[in-house]
Amino acid sequence: MDSKFNPFKMAQQQFDEIAEKLNLDEATRSFLRVPMKEMHFTIPVKMDDGTTKVFQGFRIQHNSARGPNKGGIRFHPQETVDTVRALATWMTWKCAVVDIPLGGGKGGVICDPHNLSMREQEAICRGFMRVIARDVGPLVDVPAPDVMTNGQHMVWMMDEYEKIMGGKFPGVITGKPVGMGGSLGRTEATGYGAMYTVREALNNLGIDIKNTTASFQGFGNVSQYAIDLYTQYGGKPVCVSCWDDKDKKSYSFIKESGLVFKELMAITDKFGTIDKAKAVELGYKIEDGNAWLTQDVDILVPAALENQIHAENVNTISPKVKLIAEGANGPTTPEADKVLHERNIFMIPDFLCNAGGVTCSYFEQVQGNMNYFWPKEEVLEKLDNAMTSAFQAVYDLAKRKNIYMRDAAYMISISRVAEASKVRGWI
Ligand code: NAD
Repeated sequence: MDSKFNPFKMAQQQFDEIAEKLNLDEATRSFLRVPMKEMHFTIPVKMDDGTTKVFQGFRIQHNSARGPNKGGIRFHPQETVDTVRALATWMTWKCAVVDIPLGGGKGGVICDPHNLSMREQEAICRGFMRVIARDVGPLVDVPAPDVMTNGQHMVWMMDEYEKIMGGKFPGVITGKPVGMGGSLGRTEATGYGAMYTVREALNNLGIDIKNTTASFQGFGNVSQYAIDLYTQYGGKPVCVSCWDDKDKKSYSFIKESGLVFKELMAITDKFGTIDKAKAVELGYKIEDGNAWLTQDVDILVPAALENQIHAENVNTISPKVKLIAEGANGPTTPEADKVLHERNIFMIPDFLCNAGGVTCSYFEQVQGNMNYFWPKEEVLEKLDNAMTSAFQAVYDLAKRKNIYMRDAAYMISISRVAEASKVRGWI
């Protein structure tokens, strides 16, 4: 990744442009363009080899005007405080665009789970929660899994919180495993949610999904279920890329006749890395990691990392591409975004496209509060309704005002959060 790229500057740039268009007053701009509260802390861990290693952790609470802060915790070796700030900010806009009563937050630990035993990961989770326990909680700030964290990490954190606070507080965290207070459908929620918005976009554009092809970046939680549902809808996914940590580079896997979701899942590890040798045996062609972006397809789905479509590579996108669905957070830089807008490529912006995860987390909270859990079909139906109406509201505004989809989504979110902050008398 470009070391000069700063996701928080990008999030602020996006905010400033919309604040100008909405004619927000100075106090509202100053308040919403930075997080309300930040925690930066150390997590000392006794490692399996007897040494002690000190990890750096962050929890950033961007805005809670509409409800408790909400957002995942990432484990990543290149994590930076500015990435976490940006992600916390985008969580605020994400919860607002799907109109759920939650604010925005995000957490991170600079670490590489590839090189950590389960015991060491547990120690990081418990250490993380020990520091922030007084500043999170079911009615304050509710973490969840994100890149390289999962339900097991969440249960360790919840357990530590319950030890500290005394009692049972399943609402302190979402993304818990089913049977431990988790919701059915959470695993599929972000990828499926992204595809509900793609389905709606194609309907509005008058394109039959069965006549489309798509290329995906990443084969983790988001991308896997996006590919699954896209295939069920009759679309043809032809390329997917992933990171190979052994080679320290990414690869693209291509099959012109269509990727087969189940066969790929069978040769993919828990980090979303596809086995190259087995893929070749199954007839996949392997190319450089950038090839996913240059495919002659109708739909591109960046679902790996931020800063993947930028000024240097945006012009390598094929003229055939009609739609980009941002499964990842912040995959397109503002410079590249301008080019895509000029090229009239239909954009489903990240904080709308990938809002299915947090919407299902909200459902997990609702079910946990009732102590009554819905069947998977009911969760997915409610998720589809929420994503479809959020998409339609953004699409209608974009059409009515003849503006870019990202601008329309931001206008809806920022207006809602500004309004809630004002009604509370904060600004
Ligand atoms: P994940 O860890 O499950 O998978 C990430 C995938 O990206 C893996 O297949 C990995 O190999 C691949 N990858 C990493 N670096 C790459 C590179 N340079 N080139 C190509 N592939 C690369 O993560 P995830 O949960 O699927 O999240 C992906 C993105 O979606 C992130 O931006 C995350 O913040 C965002 N997101 C996730 C959720 C969720 O519910 N999981 C919700 C909203 C947003």
